[in-house]
Amino acid sequence: MRRKLVIGNWKMNGSLAGNSVLLRGIVAGHAAGNADMAVCVPAPYLAQCQAELSGTPVAWGAQDVSAYAAGAYTGEMAASMLQEFGCRYVLVGHSERRAYHHESNELVAQKALAALNAGLTPVVCVGETLEQREAGRTNVVVCAQLQAVLDVLENPALEKIVLAYEPVWAIGTGKTATPALAQEVHAALRKQVAVRSAEAAAKLQILYGGSMKPENAGDLMAQADIDGGLIGGASLKAQDFLGIAKAG
Ligand code: PGA
Repeated sequence: MRRKLVIGNWKMNGSLAGNSVLLRGIVAGHAAGNADMAVCVPAPYLAQCQAELSGTPVAWGAQDVSAYAAGAYTGEMAASMLQEFGCRYVLVGHSERRAYHHESNELVAQKALAALNAGLTPVVCVGETLEQREAGRTNVVVCAQLQAVLDVLENPALEKIVLAYEPVWAIGTGKTATPALAQEVHAALRKQVAVRSAEAAAKLQILYGGSMKPENAGDLMAQADIDGGLIGGASLKAQDFLGIAKAG
């Protein structure tokens, strides 16, 4: 039985004062029977998360990581550094990184590997654009994104990743994939992992992301292969984020 997990992706939002209110609200409203919760925050706020969330059931993480362990990579953050700040999770391959920073499937795979090597859980994001969906290429695109990661991971490591299906056309647009449509892609992703390891596939948490909110979270997470959510906009308000966790 897979646990439900909701992860807030703050993107480039926040301030020390605002974060404090938000984090305290999340901790105060967290309930044991709800989905597990985590926030992935801008790197300058990791120390704040460590201070405010240590000893609470709410986990934290970063939104990106370098594929390299250390060295002359100005502006990059090593997985070992994130680990020092108590991160459990790190997003890799978010569509905004793929689009604006030209991250390839292979680079994303190397980032997932770097995260695992430092003891972090990479949340590997995959998803198709509207153009790709309309061309009937959704499964080809997301399966290629996933395959690059499968190609670099050994089987035991494979059991430690989290996958997030985020159709690009649903991110920040208010257009959510229907539960049936999302389920179809989630099932295809799980099947692809099962080719490598049935056990890893059965354990794998696959989150849905793209305009998830309290009103649609229940129907999405009721699907057989949807194990939680990666939440952007709605994770910036404690009430909404908690409402989604409750729906899980
Ligand atoms: P959204 O973002 O919930 O605001 O659509 C999701 C994401 O980009 O992770």
